[in-house]
Amino acid sequence: MAYTEEKELSFILNELGEDRDSYYNCIVPPIMQTTNFAIDTVDELREYFKDDFKTNQLYTRSRNPTVDILRKKLSALDHAEDCLVFNSGAAAILACIMSNVKSGDHIICVKNSYAAASYIVNEWAPRFGISTTIVDGKNIENFQKAIRPETKIIYLESPTSWTFELQDLKAIAELAKAHNILTICDNSYCSPLFQQPLALGIDLSIQSATKYIGGHSDTLGGVVSGKKEQIEHIFHTHFAELGQSIQPFNAWLLLRGLRTINLRMEKSAMVTRKIVTYLKGKERVEKVFFPFDEDYPQIELAKKQMKNACGLLSFQLRTTKEETMEVFSEAFSHIKMAVSWGGYESLILPGCAIKEKSAFDPSDPSQRTFRLYVGIENPDYLIEDFEKAFKQIEKLQ
Ligand SMILES: *Cc1c(COP(=O)(O)O)cnc(C)c1O
Repeated sequence: MAYTEEKELSFILNELGEDRDSYYNCIVPPIMQTTNFAIDTVDELREYFKDDFKTNQLYTRSRNPTVDILRKKLSALDHAEDCLVFNSGAAAILACIMSNVKSGDHIICVKNSYAAASYIVNEWAPRFGISTTIVDGKNIENFQKAIRPETKIIYLESPTSWTFELQDLKAIAELAKAHNILTICDNSYCSPLFQQPLALGIDLSIQSATKYIGGHSDTLGGVVSGKKEQIEHIFHTHFAELGQSIQPFNAWLLLRGLRTINLRMEKSAMVTRKIVTYLKGKERVEKVFFPFDEDYPQIELAKKQMKNACGLLSFQLRTTKEETMEVFSEAFSHIKMAVSWGGYESLILPGCAIKEKSAFDPSDPSQRTFRLYVGIENPDYLIEDFEKAFKQIEKLQ
């Protein structure tokens, strides 16, 4: 697994891609907030028109020097030949999928994938004559059975971000290669620090940079990394012309976030262990879903392909009433109810909010589920908040 070599990580985060001589030796690179660049000769301009992937000094919708510093670091973290940075994770997912299929093709997608990916494969792609099979990713045979002659993509997310099911990335990559199928994996949960999909044989690794890379809940972003040929293909088909690139200021925020990603992820992972142990000891908690928990059904696979697990988990409450879900959700002082994750702050999200109040069905465990993101706060500060919430539902069924 990568980054046993901490020195390599320090070099990537602190030095790689920086060209301080060209900006007055500033320690921090400037935000090159410009749309366009002055060009000296017609010959140069002609070259750039032929291929805007080759220059970061034509137009910011294609490339920009601030974004390029980030690209170098993110490629190195993934041990990839190249990467592109999008204006959101969802944009990155759309580009990866749509640039590799045409009408008549077939996609295999893992069950319980992130909402944007589910939407793209189930709602968007079919409008263009592309079909999808959703499979339970825990078992490799399900992929084997779903493969057709027209299958072009196997789309993975390991672990998934509500139910935390894992797929055996190495085995699926081998299967796909034998059938000439492209593999894509959403690696937002682990980031390259905790899992390296490309090293396991996956073709394209996606991250929502909004989460651990940004780390401060102040900018969206998305990354796709892989072989240069694939990245160049995505650039020419679904990046530059369709206006998917990140803005220089947002790239700069991601660069700033990236400087401390190792500290934040380690702290978040450490605090999470304490919270998982605490929640498992609570009478009102029926089940905790966390891939690095010793009781987790896929713990062996988790330890095989992941270096660590991050701050995202879910747990089910024992309750028969929707009211209890609401009282619990609203009882916290420190932990905020909000979507997203990967920042400094802990967040909770009740599964019951997906359905109408009147449709609450306690026999459906997903409606009694909370997704919890554990940030980098003091664990006792969070546990005190949980104690308050459990106390509020003490007398409720
Ligand atoms: C948030 C998220 C995305 C989408 O990223 P955005 O930056 O919000 O568009 C994709 N996958 C996972 C697992 C996520 O958590």
